[in-house]
Amino acid sequence: MRYSQIFIPTLKEAPADAEIASHQYMVRAGLIRQLASGIYSTLPLGLRVIRKIENIIREEMDRIGGQEVFLPSIQPSELWKESGRWDFYGKELLRIRDRHDREFCYGPTHEEVITDLVRKEVKSYKQLPLTFYQIQTKFRDEVRPRFGIMRGREFMMKDAYSFHPDEESVNKTYDDMARAYSNIFERCGLEYKKVEADTGAIGGARSHEFHVLADSGEDEIGFCDICDFASNLELAQRRIPSETGEAENQDAKAIEEISTPGKKTIEEVTSFLSITPQEIIKTVIFESNAGLVAGLCRGDREINPIKLKKLLDCEWLHPADQSKQDDSIAYGYIGPIGLKLPMYADAEILQMPQAVAGANKTDCHLTGIYPPRDLSTIKTGDICFAKANDPCPQCDKGTLQVKRGVELGHIFVLGNKYSKSMKAHFLDANGKEQAMIMGCYGIGVGRTAAAAIEQLHDEKGICWPKSIAPFQIEVIPVNIKDEATVTAAETLYKTLTQNGIETLLDDRPERAGIKFKDADLLGLPIQIIIGPKTLQEGLVELRIRKSGGTLSIPLDQASEKAQKILTEL
Ligand code: ATP
Ligand code: MG
Repeated sequence: MRYSQIFIPTLKEAPADAEIASHQYMVRAGLIRQLASGIYSTLPLGLRVIRKIENIIREEMDRIGGQEVFLPSIQPSELWKESGRWDFYGKELLRIRDRHDREFCYGPTHEEVITDLVRKEVKSYKQLPLTFYQIQTKFRDEVRPRFGIMRGREFMMKDAYSFHPDEESVNKTYDDMARAYSNIFERCGLEYKKVEADTGAIGGARSHEFHVLADSGEDEIGFCDICDFASNLELAQRRIPSETGEAENQDAKAIEEISTPGKKTIEEVTSFLSITPQEIIKTVIFESNAGLVAGLCRGDREINPIKLKKLLDCEWLHPADQSKQDDSIAYGYIGPIGLKLPMYADAEILQMPQAVAGANKTDCHLTGIYPPRDLSTIKTGDICFAKANDPCPQCDKGTLQVKRGVELGHIFVLGNKYSKSMKAHFLDANGKEQAMIMGCYGIGVGRTAAAAIEQLHDEKGICWPKSIAPFQIEVIPVNIKDEATVTAAETLYKTLTQNGIETLLDDRPERAGIKFKDADLLGLPIQIIIGPKTLQEGLVELRIRKSGGTLSIPLDQASEKAQKILTEL
């Protein structure tokens, strides 16, 4: 492709709202343009990247028996009412009415539509299992669209859904999917982590996310520095060394009330008493469908509501709204001794040899608490977030590292949540009617492109992995007024193109400096620079974008050499 014939509107400056590198470079390199908040047009160069990612995804989905479909983006509200999500989904669901005043939504996901299709067509176990996938536009009215197409409102997703007669079958497809996802992200040239994930609102049984590690990521990923353990921090289990058992303290003192006027936060209390947060018991009040409850943890920890909810075995739970509560709770001075609420403690509490906690009385704390003696009746469990340097919950030796990640893919075993509510039934081998077992599997296509930039860029621009680069090689004649330069560039461009290498020829009448800047910004893996001076010696310069390495090579070997280097990249 000739630069003069492809629309690449590069910019010197990124838009003011572009906070992260991928957003800045996608706009500056002319890959995307914003139409409205969270809504983007994809330009020719951007679309080449998107198509490459789509094709990798297609190949891997087809390989595991996925069948491509294309489902409507506009979905009738009746289906969402049947599944129960019309009310539950809230404001992220863009609701619309047609001329007959019928309610529809713009699909944020397609469980309802595919389940409707399958329940109408599939009646027998003999027709199962089935896996469908599509690559299609979704709309989610995100509260905070940002980072360009990384978190858009309208975005491209590959979503897949599988239907099964039993657990064994869904588990096989789930494992195939997990492998396909690993292949996809590897083939896209990304460094990724497969992490255990929360089954959350969808309420399934198994779930993993695929993350690319990047400082701009919105999730925190915990992973072991020795074994393969990796988990979204939201969910990561902790190893609470049970072998050390409860803390021993022969000299445990009696509990004593002390005056701590105005000292409410952990920081205030620790500095006032000259103690560490590890010596404090933090008490946090939560509202749940079972009423108000208190969660206890060490002062250096945070309670994870998802884990606490599990320990309580309740339907919903969230931190209590302090402004709504009655005066019987002395916020800032709450503690487990004498608190008239059901209490749940992090197991680590029992390993504290002595502790300070609020006295449930304004301006007072208690010292001398010996948890194994004073709090032994409280139900305990792992109710806190894991954090960096915790022992790995999976292996004996490792330590948890924490890094930020961008979620690119998410796979779920859904069980019968949708098939039950939407009556997607089939007859099993014994002629008995059963609800199908389902799985669902998503990848953000645009987000994958953005994450690749996030992971591979420098101060000059993008450094595309070759598999998803819009072109592999850019041929740059530095002066198109020089005939020999132009002839050499044209010949090389033709040879490379004939050999199936996607090549961009910068045939613009621009200054060399501008061409080099643009080439670095666009980030094609290899640049071949042809200038009158070196050409006189029969040489051209080959630059590897990512490493910055340069090589002087004879013009007549340039094509061969560049192709060889490309295969090695
Ligand atoms: P997130 O937690 O980032 O909002 P999600 O859990 O809502 O993601 P899923 O419903 O699992 O995402 O969607 C599947 C994939 O679609 C995600 O892994 C992500 O790559 C992509 N995706 C989700 N929301 C967006 C968005 N607003 N913009 C771009 N891609 C998105
Ligand atoms: Mg979301």
